[in-house]
Amino acid sequence: MEKLFDVMDLNMESIISVIDTVGKCIEGYLFVREIETKRIYLSKSITNRFAINEYDFIDEGNIFEEQLIYQEDQKMVLDLVIACDQNPGKEFDMLYRWNGRNGDPIWVHGRGQMIRDKEGKVKYFFGATTEIGRKMMADDISGLKGEVMLMKAYESLLAQGKRGFVVRIGIDNFKEINENHGTMYGDMIIRQTAECIKRATGGLYEVYRITADEYVVLDFNSDNINDVMAMYERASFAVNDFIISNNYDSFYTISAGIVDTSLRSNVSYESIMRRADFALNEAKARGKNQCYEFDKDDYAKFKHNRQLLSELRRSVAEGFEGFDAFFQPIVESRNQTLVGAETLMRYTDMDGNSVTPFEFIPLLEESGLIIPAGRWIVGRAVEMCKKMQEVIPSFYISVNISYVQLKKSNLLDLLINAKNKMNLPDNSIVVEITESGEIECDDSFLYFSRKLRENGILLALDDFGTGYSNFHYLYKLRPDTMKIDRSFTLSAINDDYEMKLLKYTSDMAHSIGLKTIIEGVETDDELEKITNCVNPDYIQGYYFGKPMKYDDFMSYAEKYID
Ligand code: C2E
Ligand code: CA
Ligand code: CA
Repeated sequence: MEKLFDVMDLNMESIISVIDTVGKCIEGYLFVREIETKRIYLSKSITNRFAINEYDFIDEGNIFEEQLIYQEDQKMVLDLVIACDQNPGKEFDMLYRWNGRNGDPIWVHGRGQMIRDKEGKVKYFFGATTEIGRKMMADDISGLKGEVMLMKAYESLLAQGKRGFVVRIGIDNFKEINENHGTMYGDMIIRQTAECIKRATGGLYEVYRITADEYVVLDFNSDNINDVMAMYERASFAVNDFIISNNYDSFYTISAGIVDTSLRSNVSYESIMRRADFALNEAKARGKNQCYEFDKDDYAKFKHNRQLLSELRRSVAEGFEGFDAFFQPIVESRNQTLVGAETLMRYTDMDGNSVTPFEFIPLLEESGLIIPAGRWIVGRAVEMCKKMQEVIPSFYISVNISYVQLKKSNLLDLLINAKNKMNLPDNSIVVEITESGEIECDDSFLYFSRKLRENGILLALDDFGTGYSNFHYLYKLRPDTMKIDRSFTLSAINDDYEMKLLKYTSDMAHSIGLKTIIEGVETDDELEKITNCVNPDYIQGYYFGKPMKYDDFMSYAEKYID
């Protein structure tokens, strides 16, 4: 039989020690599979970079279950593994993808071979994998060193027991520069920015370029974050000087994320870079042109939101499991009869904890999931309205609508179809919308509000008294109803001046033909003060009922039905 590998008495332990030692000296990733036990040992560098949990040994089947291998490539890889098992002379050699820690597919070149023992029995499969797309050692555009060199430099500092600041600097809106001026111009900006950063470090530190528009500086000498921030400021000024000398041909800014590795317990390269990446994104999210120091509470919140978002995504895909529609009564203030309800979304996570809308609605909005979720809740709302109209024929239902739904989905058709499907009379549906700068200047919104009216659907301006341009809004949008926010109501109850303001606001609304709803009335005392001074048409608040499940609302409503 053909001799595949002359290894004599190599046992699993000695192979592992080879992997651990050699693994540190090479760019690639090593692993070994013991044929008999089906155990696989992966080098630490694999678990650091790829989507696989840390194990000493992993069972063969789990490589797929753990999803180290990109789903589309799993079958192809498995086929070749089986072929190699059946024909131990065959070499494993394949280009395919592994999943990175962030879920991004990473192209790898995998090679491997069977190893036999002295008796010629196939004992191990030894594999080596390299990343094809891994950043080159150096970058020809900027003349800077690339990520591989950065990793080496970082690891060498680490090995010397040093801790310090990792500064990740990014060009804000680099894509726009490329789009507006072409990639050659973009390359020039990359070079110039590299120069600006180099100058800001006073030539003390190496500047690495790690993605198209991101650089890293390792400042392991400063012991004060202010010195590092000052370095960022100098880079930022230098960019500004460059823009001026370039006659404002293009205008851009830079942001930075800083991680102090001395404050971290896990200082592995991957862990620190993930945090630096988060810190830079955070600086950009906070308005760009600034630097942000990594904060573990912000990061925990970010991770929590990411987890929650993935649960929300799954729930939406699985028929809105965990979502519920609650209904809060709205009563007429004159005679305290039930006239309608506001539909409020609820979400219970996988652990059974209810999550507040203030937390999950923004995530639905950012991800666009508010579009299917909004469609779902409109469905629940009209069904409930239809049911209630059997006992209170003029009953209406209101639904909250986000700007994203308005902008990115055909909300108009959704609402009109929902109304028609349930055969609801005019004025049965009220759309609640909160003012925002975005809506104000949007002509399509004026079209939307006109079409709503033509189709017998009403519009309410929500949270009145919390924004700034309220009166302008009232004039432009001409809603049918104004909902006065609980914060305004509360301050009115406690302050004469605010009460007068509330009264005049309500009178003004009436004078232009709007109905008013006072939100957030909780107690007898609040109700009395509000109804004595202001003359609202409707009231909504815990005093009359909290938001409740469908069945609870149905029982609640019975007391209003003769
Ligand atoms: P909102 O539209 O202003 O809804 C009224 C909020 O005030 C509700 O909070 C309600 O439970 C609360 N509330 C009502 N009466 C009282 C009271 O007497 N005292 C106090 N302290 N609070 C009262 P909730 O349900 O937590 O909803 C929060 C926000 O989430 C809503 O504010 C709305 O902006 C958003 N939201 C809820 N459901 C949806 C939805 O289906 N779509 C969209 N786009 N947003 C929704
Ligand atoms: Ca509302
Ligand atoms: Ca409100």
